[in-house]
Amino acid sequence: MIQETFNIPDFSRLQQLIDASTAADVQRALHDDRIDIAGLAALLSPAADDHLPALASRSARITNRRFGRTIQIYAPIYLSNFCVNRCAYCGFAAHNTIERRVLTMAEAEQEAAILQGRGFNHILLVAGEAPARLGVDYLAGLALRLRDRFAAISIEVQPLEEEEYARLFAAGITSVAVYQETYDRTVYQQVHHAGKKCDFDYRLATPARAAAAGMREIGIGALLGLADWRLEGLALGLHLAWLRKHYWRTALTVSFPRLRPAEGGFQPLVRVNERMLSQLIFSLRIFDPDVGLLLSTREEARFRHGMIGLGPTRYSAGSCTAPGGYARPELSGEQFAIGDHRSVQEVCADICGRGYDPVRKDWDATFQRKEAGWELSAPSR
Ligand code: SF4
Repeated sequence: MIQETFNIPDFSRLQQLIDASTAADVQRALHDDRIDIAGLAALLSPAADDHLPALASRSARITNRRFGRTIQIYAPIYLSNFCVNRCAYCGFAAHNTIERRVLTMAEAEQEAAILQGRGFNHILLVAGEAPARLGVDYLAGLALRLRDRFAAISIEVQPLEEEEYARLFAAGITSVAVYQETYDRTVYQQVHHAGKKCDFDYRLATPARAAAAGMREIGIGALLGLADWRLEGLALGLHLAWLRKHYWRTALTVSFPRLRPAEGGFQPLVRVNERMLSQLIFSLRIFDPDVGLLLSTREEARFRHGMIGLGPTRYSAGSCTAPGGYARPELSGEQFAIGDHRSVQEVCADICGRGYDPVRKDWDATFQRKEAGWELSAPSR
């Protein structure tokens, strides 16, 4: 069980760290082998704004040394767009009038089969937070059906208890993504209007619960466009460092979802342009050479093309964010409008064209079978 929980310092203290950073601190952070949280603050600070090419080149060197010339490819499967929460920025929020659906087990398997046919080995199961419609029983049942067909199955669903994560791990789920959305408590309360998600601390402790349950990989992130990106980056660094210290056996990833147009017409509270996003990605890569960095189809093809080799290690491709949308592309009810509309073949060709390998498999469920016991048997089909 978790003994200690991660706590985020007041944002004004993080702001002080950023404000105190000088050009000399930036130079030091760019040349030191390992940097601490003060070094990360320097790279994220305005003092580093004019040094983006140097950040990019250091980030690229570290990424190539640690991950080689590879980009892992994955795709999400949206299982349900029901949600009991009212997040101001999300198309699935309970107050939006959209066509709602939760996939049957057969429909979910059909979506998975389509992605398998397109060559995906890593899939991410995504759902809005509505446990009465899609809970642990559903996820465990689906994992049992899919686990022999995919190298890795991740989830991005409602936060769960440690024992629920342990049950999912035994059923074949390999990793959990849970984004804090914003580490700024004040903004968090402003944009989360109803539902369990209003509990900032419960959400903040979720990655640790999943890691304590034995999950192989945990993904964290901040939704960019809600609070100052420099402060979110520093908070992400603190969270990463805490998880590394307490769960050193768990692989960690960070996502940088920028707000996209969605049902409800919510506008970003702060501007985060591609230059700012790049500085954030490079800074976190230099801070944590081992962390997996995800760049999803929220970003446009042009930007994703330009970022190959500079820091990100994982790209989604050919994504659809409406439940059932791979089998029936005409369906509406998507979470947000994607920015990169290329097919998986086009994304992979782009990666190859830059001299990198699009990796569709870097894990085998056999390893997990041993670790988790896999005492549950897959149902006959
Ligand atoms: S962000 Fe997640 S929890 Fe919030 S409304 Fe959307 S699906 Fe629900």
